[in-house]
Amino acid sequence: MPHFRLLKHSSLSVNAPLVDRQPPESRVQRRRLRACHECDWVSALPPLRSGEKASCPRCSHVLVKRHRYPAQRSMALAIAALIALIVAISFPFVSFSVSGVGNRIELSQTATTLIAFHQPVVAIIVIMTIAVLPTLYLLSVIWLQLGLLHGKPLAYSRDIARSLAHLTPWMMADVFIIGALVSLIKIAGMAQIELGISFWGFCIFAVLLLMTIQSIDADWMWFSLEGEPLAPEGTQTGATAASQRLTGCPTCGLVNSLTPGHKSRCIRCHEKLHSRLPYSLQRTWALLGAATIMYIPANVYPIMTTTSLGHSSSSTIIGGVVELIQMGSWPVATVIFVASIIVPVGKLLALSWLCTVVRGNSQPNTISRTRLYRITEFIGRWSMVDVFVVAILVALIRAGSLMSITPGPAALAFGSVVVLTMLAAMTFDPRLIWDAPTKAASTSNNSHSGSH
Ligand SMILES: [Zn+2]
Ligand SMILES: [Zn+2]
Repeated sequence: MPHFRLLKHSSLSVNAPLVDRQPPESRVQRRRLRACHECDWVSALPPLRSGEKASCPRCSHVLVKRHRYPAQRSMALAIAALIALIVAISFPFVSFSVSGVGNRIELSQTATTLIAFHQPVVAIIVIMTIAVLPTLYLLSVIWLQLGLLHGKPLAYSRDIARSLAHLTPWMMADVFIIGALVSLIKIAGMAQIELGISFWGFCIFAVLLLMTIQSIDADWMWFSLEGEPLAPEGTQTGATAASQRLTGCPTCGLVNSLTPGHKSRCIRCHEKLHSRLPYSLQRTWALLGAATIMYIPANVYPIMTTTSLGHSSSSTIIGGVVELIQMGSWPVATVIFVASIIVPVGKLLALSWLCTVVRGNSQPNTISRTRLYRITEFIGRWSMVDVFVVAILVALIRAGSLMSITPGPAALAFGSVVVLTMLAAMTFDPRLIWDAPTKAASTSNNSHSGSH
């Protein structure tokens, strides 16, 4: 075992700007160990150049992605995204007119109009996912990087950095853009549409927000904020963390030791630690059950009611798809069908299947099951498209008896299906997929991964 040199916290808080220094691997002489968050395998991080990433040797989950000048880059992108968001909320978003009567809306009205129709929960979901959470995220990034660029982390940096990862899945600006496009195509035949400055501002904001999220080099950020405490003595690569009474921190990646029967927190970022997420299967089943129940009213009740020249008609989710097909908008019909039917049903089935098979004694196809879980986790938020379509159309199409659209009870039911299935994917612990075959695999893989 090589001689390890402990890097003390104090050695990091010298005055030179932290980000101008070399990346973490060139600042410590010892191996930096990580326990994979998806399969629990312990491996040592290789030295990385910018643009390179280190993946788990067992399940190929990305452990670290290295960027050049991560602090400057994230800071610049976050500021640009925030400016685009300010533009997006300050100008008209889109306007429509039919037979001379029209309406022009601002972005915030997509949420506030829903409150007028007694849909406060849907309004909160919309405003949180498209504006509030992204703003919090961007301000957090700016706060963190500002501290790092000045060589001294600002107050609450550790807590803020920890919350970044938790916010990420709930930001849906990109999904909202798709919702806006679907809405516009839906009404393009019936009314004249004009896109405002805010529409383009929001498109730019959505792209910049995605780029900001991509630009975060969490490994470098945590190293710059809190240094890197040593992994517990005797930690071995090429075995699972659980078999060594260790666990990898889900937020900063550090390998921590666990005391059985005690609630542990990460020594670097203070995140709660669990060898496996507590009651993972029970919680996932409960959320899946609730989502399945909500999926019934989501499809039975109308999602919106259109009134045109005194005649009103309600449409369900599937009814909306049929209408679009009759209009000849095959691409939009496909988008709504995939987002509102295929994705939620597929998610419910995939997670139920994973919850069932992880109880088995032997676990074949671990790689493909992990891949299935990753897809499930990734696509979940795209189901929100139809909820955003309702929010936009209800706010925009308000020309009295000439033409107006009101939300139906299915909007709330369907919104909760999306949130519940997202939570279900989060409570499922993918490490359970790998648990049964650990013994057989650890002997055959030891030689391979130990050489890192
Ligand atoms: Zn892994
Ligand atoms: Zn941590």
